[in-house]
Amino acid sequence: MNIHQSMHGMLEAPVKKSSQFVQSAHKIAAIASTHAAQVDKASRFPHEAMAAVREHKLLGATVPVQFGGSGASLRDIVEVCFILGQSCASTAMIFAMHHVKAACIIGHYGESPWHMAFMRRMVTDQLLLASSTTEGQSGGDVRNSNAPVIEDGGSFTLERAATVLSYGEQADALVTTARRSAAAAASDQVLVILDKSDYSLTPTFGWETLGMRGTCSGGFGLKARGQISQIMPVDYATIHAESMIPAAHLMWGAVWGGIAAGAHERARRHLRKLATSSGTVPSGVAWLNRAATHLTALRAMLNNTLDQYENAVGTPDMLNQLELQTAITLLKVDVSELAVASVMASLRANGLPGYREDGEASNARALRDVLSAPLMINNDRILGNLGIAPLMISPASTLTP
Ligand SMILES: Cc1cc2nc3c(=O)[nH]c(=O)nc-3n(C[C@H](O)[C@H](O)[C@H](O)COP(=O)(O)OP(=O)(O)OC[C@H]3O[C@@H](n4cnc5c(N)ncnc54)[C@H](O)[C@@H]3O)c2cc1C
Repeated sequence: MNIHQSMHGMLEAPVKKSSQFVQSAHKIAAIASTHAAQVDKASRFPHEAMAAVREHKLLGATVPVQFGGSGASLRDIVEVCFILGQSCASTAMIFAMHHVKAACIIGHYGESPWHMAFMRRMVTDQLLLASSTTEGQSGGDVRNSNAPVIEDGGSFTLERAATVLSYGEQADALVTTARRSAAAAASDQVLVILDKSDYSLTPTFGWETLGMRGTCSGGFGLKARGQISQIMPVDYATIHAESMIPAAHLMWGAVWGGIAAGAHERARRHLRKLATSSGTVPSGVAWLNRAATHLTALRAMLNNTLDQYENAVGTPDMLNQLELQTAITLLKVDVSELAVASVMASLRANGLPGYREDGEASNARALRDVLSAPLMINNDRILGNLGIAPLMISPASTLTP
């Protein structure tokens, strides 16, 4: 059998029955893909794709059914992130960042009438939520805040240097960390939900970056005033460990995995064309294999951690176990590095056509976008913050968990 005959019978991925969220994701991805190059070039918000996200009612998808939402699971959203990541990384990351904030509210609203009403609005008004954790020059030090909430009777004011704030201008609401009060320690934080009418943003930094250009993550001076009832009823430390970090690491990881899957597919198509036209096995196939291996490891890690997290949700003792918390923390480090390695291998598989910014074989944008992964909460900081945790966890002694 020659190479043409063997490629004719080549295995394609099996078609699976997909959920309504997956079906929506494919439709949105098609729109995102049409505009992705222009979004990147102009460093502009992906309006078209985000309008489609709203049309499919995906912004309020995880809101519980009792508040009008679809009750989508974390797994549903992670899957959508992976699909969107293959066509436009900025759209996928905006979608992920929104849903990380949604998870913080949905997981911890307690008995708060204000937050219950807000969740209803997340569905009816399809509110887009932005996230402010980076403050001043503190980088990814998410568990410390400088600016305090200043109480004044039943209301509060907050002024903070939001030095990196994705889609700050396009968002309908802002979810921000803050010091509990002027007298509180930097680590004694609360999470505050701000409606667009509660705050003003004064631009301080632009967003002229290598990749993820459509996230429009410029800097702003934030000035806010709101009601005390808008502050989440649970301290931020709990929200951080139980919802914010698991959701962020799983959703961001899926976006980066999606970027790698998109790059892999472009490489595979390019090499197939070469194989068909030359009748020989292209030398880039060795790199394509590497791209696939990294991607397989990445997907396995994401799925495994998702299983563990889903198993522990609703049981704080299990959720806060050192082993699970460490696995969730390390997931971000490993997945981000695997995604970069996989995209890099896809780039090398295609050679110069992959390196070019134009053409169907280009993986240049994918590489620029995925290079943000190890920096988005810097991996060095994450590893440094683990402290002595790795010394407390015995390695597995059996293969089967
Ligand atoms: C695409 C994108 C979108 C973003 N969107 C938002 C957003 O919407 N809202 C928001 O608040 N933030 C956002 N951020 C910012 C993000 O949350 C982090 O603040 C940022 O990525 C940290 O960048 P950094 O590496 O410069 O900073 P840092 O984490 O401060 O690191 C700076 C340097 O110090 C080193 N370092 C730090 N700590 C340690 C340590 N413990 N041990 C050893 N070395 C260490 C690191 O290696 C690094 O070189 C976004 C970032 C990206 C890339």
